[in-house]
Amino acid sequence: MVWDRMLQNKGLSKYNSVNILPICQLHLFFAIFAHLIQAMEILDIQNKVHDESKQGEAYSPFELDANQYKKRFYIESYGCAMNFSDSEIVASILNDEGFGATKNFEEADLILINTCSIREKAELTIRKRLTEFRATKKKNGTLIGVLGCMAERLKAKLLEEEKLVDLVIGPDAYRSLPGLIEEAETGQKGVNVLLSRDETYADISPVRLNSNGVTAFVSIMRGCNNMCSFCVVPFTRGRERSRDAYSIVAEAKDLFDKGYREVTLLGQNVDSYYWMDEKKDEIVTFAKLMEKVALISPLLRVRFSTSHPKDITDEVLFTIAKYENICNYIHLPVQSGSSRVLQLMNRTYTREWYIAKVNRIREILPTAGLSTDIITGFCTETEEDHQDSYTLMEYCKYDLAYMYFYSERPGTLAAKRYEDDVPEDVKKRRLQEIIDLHRIHSLESMQRDVNKAFKVLIEGNSKKSDEHWFGRTDHNKVVIFPKENYNLNKGDYVNVFVKECTAGTLLGTIEN
Ligand code: SAM
Ligand code: SF4
Repeated sequence: MVWDRMLQNKGLSKYNSVNILPICQLHLFFAIFAHLIQAMEILDIQNKVHDESKQGEAYSPFELDANQYKKRFYIESYGCAMNFSDSEIVASILNDEGFGATKNFEEADLILINTCSIREKAELTIRKRLTEFRATKKKNGTLIGVLGCMAERLKAKLLEEEKLVDLVIGPDAYRSLPGLIEEAETGQKGVNVLLSRDETYADISPVRLNSNGVTAFVSIMRGCNNMCSFCVVPFTRGRERSRDAYSIVAEAKDLFDKGYREVTLLGQNVDSYYWMDEKKDEIVTFAKLMEKVALISPLLRVRFSTSHPKDITDEVLFTIAKYENICNYIHLPVQSGSSRVLQLMNRTYTREWYIAKVNRIREILPTAGLSTDIITGFCTETEEDHQDSYTLMEYCKYDLAYMYFYSERPGTLAAKRYEDDVPEDVKKRRLQEIIDLHRIHSLESMQRDVNKAFKVLIEGNSKKSDEHWFGRTDHNKVVIFPKENYNLNKGDYVNVFVKECTAGTLLGTIEN
């Protein structure tokens, strides 16, 4: 029973599927939260773009049989979705060189770690992980490579400090992997951390790794020009550049033809996507790009991440409203609720400006889901500034939030200009207060969905039971429901009536 049929039967659209507002039972307040809290960081497993459960997961190919290759590579990815997406480009380059993926690093000829530098903790985790490959390298002579942001930040120092690293390759240098591997095979060290002003890997067809065959990331741009003072990304990923719109649409179309039913358009700041179509003498904005992807098929869901509050336009909001298959969900990182701190962060908006943007979103897209990123304990943050963040969270009542305490990163504007002067225990206490508040909001958000019907894209079996499907709503909320006797498959859309919820999951039954 695919969505088309459900629509005919029910006459539902994304606007009229929402109607009643009952309250979940009080005991659900004490239900197990789906958040994973690690060292005072919290990332919600609902959202694939920051999926903590996938950090460091070994990748294996979805589409290709590893046995057809002479050599094997093993790759682990950390950090944001861009990194996971980059690993799929690396896999494609390696396949062309005769390397197939393996999930077992002990049988690999080449071990790669695609790294993240966003917070100190991420770097420490990766450094520790590297040492776990030492014995395998000694026994088998395996080559070890560090890719991504840490490679860019630490450069040749990694070769010295870790001693076991053979390759250090920055995010814009993956095309040089084959040559560098050849060099490393002769005992030399291979380093390329050159950043590029135009590399977008547009012509490389990513090899989907660990894919469910239903949802995929499509990278639309690289780098970032924003220079938020706390952030290392502009230094590790270079200047912003947008990918050829034709290649993006072709990749999304190819995914659709292969049975995928959802694409997430990825960039550090998707709203500043800008590409000149010389053939048509037409400027392609992010809104226009989204529209082109949405028009591939009404059965292809379109998501995107991340939006910078200063760049998201009415054109984008109206495009979301116009197309039923563009998900009604916006990730709009605020970082702080204090205008003074926002200025130090170089976010280029004030608290009032951000609130006006949220109001505008709710005016044009009244049912849109909203999520955010927020940092506690940034340089000079006072209790009053912290209260501003708290009250802003109360105002916005985010469905989802990624909350961090400030971690000074060497080389950033903040590290150069300001003292990291909020004591760690204060940063963590403030973070906990923000987390506690957000838990109430996220649970309320789930409770609001009880006794309503939602169009759900089936992504596969529930992890706990083959008798249940796992899928997501337009708002990216996880839904689990019994398969019953319906002849459904993954990739189908189905209407699910939500009967209960936990803080991380909606539980329902298929509507008939
Ligand atoms: N480009 C996106 C944006 O502007 O929101 C995402 C950037 S970053 C990969 C994801 C999040 O990490 C940021 O939104 C910010 O909240 C957090 N972050 C970045 N640098 C940080 C730092 N030095 N300490 C703590 N959190 C940080
Ligand atoms: Fe970092 Fe700001 Fe760019 Fe996001 S927009 S990647 S936080 S500099």
